Amino acid sequence: MTIIEAKDRFKKATSMIKISRTSVEQNIKCPRCFVLDKKHRIKPFSLPFTLNIAVDELCKNEFDYYRAKAEPHPLFIEHGIDAVPFAHEQLDDWRNWRKGIRTIDEENGINFGGAIDDVWQKSTGELIVADVKATAKKVFDWEKTCAEYDYPKSYQRQLEMYQYLLKKNGFEVAPEAYLVYYNGRKNEPMFNQEIKFDLHLIKVDCDFSWVDQAILDTKKSLEGPMPKSTPTCENCNYLKARWNLSQQNVEDA
Ligand code: SF4
Repeated sequence: MTIIEAKDRFKKATSMIKISRTSVEQNIKCPRCFVLDKKHRIKPFSLPFTLNIAVDELCKNEFDYYRAKAEPHPLFIEHGIDAVPFAHEQLDDWRNWRKGIRTIDEENGINFGGAIDDVWQKSTGELIVADVKATAKKVFDWEKTCAEYDYPKSYQRQLEMYQYLLKKNGFEVAPEAYLVYYNGRKNEPMFNQEIKFDLHLIKVDCDFSWVDQAILDTKKSLEGPMPKSTPTCENCNYLKARWNLSQQNVEDA
C-alpha cells in the first residue's frame, strides 16, 4: 500500500462511526444501557478486574514463548490440537485494546473492531481464535454453567466476532474456537502468597453469520430514539424504585 493510499484509508476510517465488539455485545444485552454509555457517557461505576488482567498477561507471555519457537503449546499436544501459536507482524496491534483488529464497511460507514487474546494456526493454515478467562470456583463444571447462566453465550459471541474480524481481514478461519480457562483453587490449606490454577480448555463450535446484522443494529441504536429499558432488568427496577422513593420523600418534606 502506498503512503497516499494509507492516508486515504486512514481518513475514511476516522470519518466513520467506530463500533467495538463490546458495543455490539452491550447492544445485544440492552440497547438502552449501550446508548446511555456510548452516546451520553452514563454508566455504572466499576473497578478493573486486575487479577484477571494479570492472568491474561501471564498466559499471553506463555503463548508468546512457544510462538517465538514456532512450537505447539503443551496444551495443544495434550488436547490433540494440530496447531502452533500464530505469528503475524500485526498481532501486537490486534491484541492492543486501543487498536485491535478492524474492518471497514464503507457502504454503511462503520469501522468495526475488537482486541483479541490469541490466535493459533492449524497445519491446514486455518486460524483458531482463543480467549483467556479466569475464575475461582470450588467445582469447575462448564456444562452446568452453560445450562444455568447466560454469560457463556456472551463468551461465544465474543469468539465469533473475532472470527468474523479475522475472516474480514482475509484469513481462513477454523469453525472451532477455544476458551483457555484458569480456575483458581480455593481449597488449598495455605495461601503462601500464591494462587494455584487448574487449566481447562473449552472447545466452542462457532458460527459468525449473525455478526453483520448485529453491527448494523448497533449503529441503528446510536442513530435512533432512546431505546426502552428491559422491564425485567434488576438494575433498572432498582434505580426506578430509588427514584420513585426519593420523589416521594421530596413531596413529604
Ligand atoms: S434495563 Fe438494565 S441494562 Fe437496560 S438500561 Fe436499564 S439498567 Fe441498563
